[in-house]
Amino acid sequence: MVELSTPVQYVKGIGPNVAAVLETKGIATVEDLLYYLPFRYEDRANPRRVAELQPGEMASVIAEVRGSLLMRTRKMPIFELSVTDLGAAYAPEPAGARHSGAKPALRAGAMPRHATLKCLWFHGGYLKDRFRPGQAIALYGKVEQDRRGALQIIQPQFEILSEGDDQENGAQASSSLEIGRIVPVYESAGNGKLTSRWFRHAIHRVLEQLPPDLPDALPAAIRARLNLPPRREALQKAHWPDSGESLRRLLDFRSPAQQRLIFEELFFLELGLELKRRRLRAQRGISFALTDKVRHAVKRLLPFHPTAAQKRVLKEIAADMQQPSPMRRLLQGDVGSGKTIVAMQAAAIAIENGFQVALMAPTEILATQHVFSARRILEPLAYRVVLLTGSLEQDRKRATHRHIAQGDANLVIGTHALLSERLEFSKLGLVIVDEQHRFGVLQRFRLMKKSDDEAEPDVLVMTATPIPRTLALTLYGDLDVSILDELPPGRTPVVTRHVDDERAGEVWAFLRKQVSAGRQAYVVYPVIEGSDEEGQIDFAAAEAKKSTLKAAEQMHRKLKSEILPGVRVGLLHGRLNSEDKEIIMRRFARGEIDVLVSTTVVEVGVDVPNANLMIIEHADRFGLSQLHQLRGRIGRGSAKSFCVLMTTGEITEDAQKRLAAMVRTSNGFEIAELDLEQRGPGEFFGTKQAGMPSFRVANLLRDRDLLEAARREAQAALAGMDTAAPSADFSRTLVHLKAHWQRRYGLVEVG
Ligand code: ADP
Ligand code: MG
Repeated sequence: MVELSTPVQYVKGIGPNVAAVLETKGIATVEDLLYYLPFRYEDRANPRRVAELQPGEMASVIAEVRGSLLMRTRKMPIFELSVTDLGAAYAPEPAGARHSGAKPALRAGAMPRHATLKCLWFHGGYLKDRFRPGQAIALYGKVEQDRRGALQIIQPQFEILSEGDDQENGAQASSSLEIGRIVPVYESAGNGKLTSRWFRHAIHRVLEQLPPDLPDALPAAIRARLNLPPRREALQKAHWPDSGESLRRLLDFRSPAQQRLIFEELFFLELGLELKRRRLRAQRGISFALTDKVRHAVKRLLPFHPTAAQKRVLKEIAADMQQPSPMRRLLQGDVGSGKTIVAMQAAAIAIENGFQVALMAPTEILATQHVFSARRILEPLAYRVVLLTGSLEQDRKRATHRHIAQGDANLVIGTHALLSERLEFSKLGLVIVDEQHRFGVLQRFRLMKKSDDEAEPDVLVMTATPIPRTLALTLYGDLDVSILDELPPGRTPVVTRHVDDERAGEVWAFLRKQVSAGRQAYVVYPVIEGSDEEGQIDFAAAEAKKSTLKAAEQMHRKLKSEILPGVRVGLLHGRLNSEDKEIIMRRFARGEIDVLVSTTVVEVGVDVPNANLMIIEHADRFGLSQLHQLRGRIGRGSAKSFCVLMTTGEITEDAQKRLAAMVRTSNGFEIAELDLEQRGPGEFFGTKQAGMPSFRVANLLRDRDLLEAARREAQAALAGMDTAAPSADFSRTLVHLKAHWQRRYGLVEVG
């Protein structure tokens, strides 16, 4: 017998070496191994016969090896294998007898003709000694026709069915795991050291040794309500589905067994997050007063009528701020939806109550921008706004620190420098974090730790990354979410075009026309920029940065002297010191610069309504969300705006799709979905910033419905605890959560 907690290396057949390979997949215990689910299944109960294959289909074939050869073409060695239906070979090999047990199930009796199937592997030299005539083999891949009409599969996945650890297991057991049923296919591990077949056998053995009853930490009532099978059964059937199970459903991860395991993972995540949220609510926060004086101040700083969405969101924030528990709120709104003014209103509430506010931005340029607009917006209230960045001179930095500590500064705007250990606030009441997707969740915690002995400050996180709601709930699971889903009135949609740079001449002519009509423009270059405060030790990245920066500088010179003589052209990039950045941004904002050649530092937050044209060079090198952010810099004024996506020569199919999406839509959510699809959640959020738990079974894109259900159930279960002591069943659930939370999700411990 094995237990779930047994380390894998004590499982029969797994030694320290194999255990080390498993470790790389995050598999340490029997439980981990059992949650290593197949990523695919093959229907080998009803495999296609070679004779019935159709070109174009994805097919699972069981066949017999006829022969093989290694062809040395000029370009590369190609390995060719030919197979026929089992038993169709004219010369019965002795090996044939070994498969006789499986033959009836495979309907190998009457073959109409000796159809053959060719399998090709490019650079297949390594396969040359793998096959012998007569071997039974399982193949999976896309059936095609070669030039002469013969059937072939290029680079199929394959498994030799009559070889391997047969001796050890007995041919009988082996063949029943490999054929005659729906067979699980696993990702291999350790560079192919542990094959799919290895996992199949190991997991099968472990399941056999597992007690028939396993404790199930999912509350019985929830299981019953959602019709989910018990844990033991789910584990069994997720690996070894019943013969009647639909292959389609399995491939979609929608069999009851799979659903149960996915739900379980999401339920415990949501339960943990909900507990965290509750614990936070129990902490002592600041209860800001919303007196008439405060309300009046908040109203005074509005230069325009707020949109309905802005009103609603401010109400949500103000309600949080009045509560005696600390606010943790995410404000999500597409670029240009007007988050800044809402944040400033929240700041006014805190400042009017006698507290200080910290606003943290991801880059110096953005911090500088915020200082401009904050001073402008807050002018009627005469607050003291200070800037704190890493590149400030020592003297000035010390002085700024002193102002903050003495409470002279009402609003402190800065970069990572705000996280400095030496910085002390006199009375910090509200922390606003802008463009959260660039910060780690951990940093957020560090910032909040600032006032240990006092009440916890409120935290408002702003992001322009439109994340589908359910994903936001998980990614920022411990935050409440407000959404600005309405743009300020009078915006004209940006006209976007994709243009090959052979037509650059026309584009520059267009730019000249806009400038002489009094408009301004951005010309964006894909320079690789990193935060200087993170310390660059990656030399290759540093080199790439340098060379792309050079290209931007060259372009700047060329535009200035050759292409746009007489036009005032400025250059902005991350390497400039903060004062120079400030000067350039200010001149552009005042209209003293007509064309700003820039790197992606203008991506976030920059707000110059008179700029109505953006030309993005090498647009294919940008990600979708980034393009969308960039384009968000224009279309802010009343004049019609234009975005030109320039590319040079041929671009990849994916890039083509991205640019087409940009031309087609300006809906941030639609673009985010597509971006998410193209890059997957990890890339989309960026592993470093996301602080997102990694899932072993669930997939946030695929399993949104289950995520919603898990959240609902977790909240309901905990709400039940407010009125009555937890049942014995639910107590077990909580014990399980505590035992697993830290290890599984690496998030802050619970309760
Ligand atoms: P973001 O959400 O991208 O931070 P901003 O706060 O920078 O958006 O707002 C974009 C622009 O829209 C700014 O020029 C701002 O002054 C303007 N704006 C914001 N709210 C309104 C409103 N209710 N009516 C008119 N203009 C608005
Ligand atoms: Mg903004």
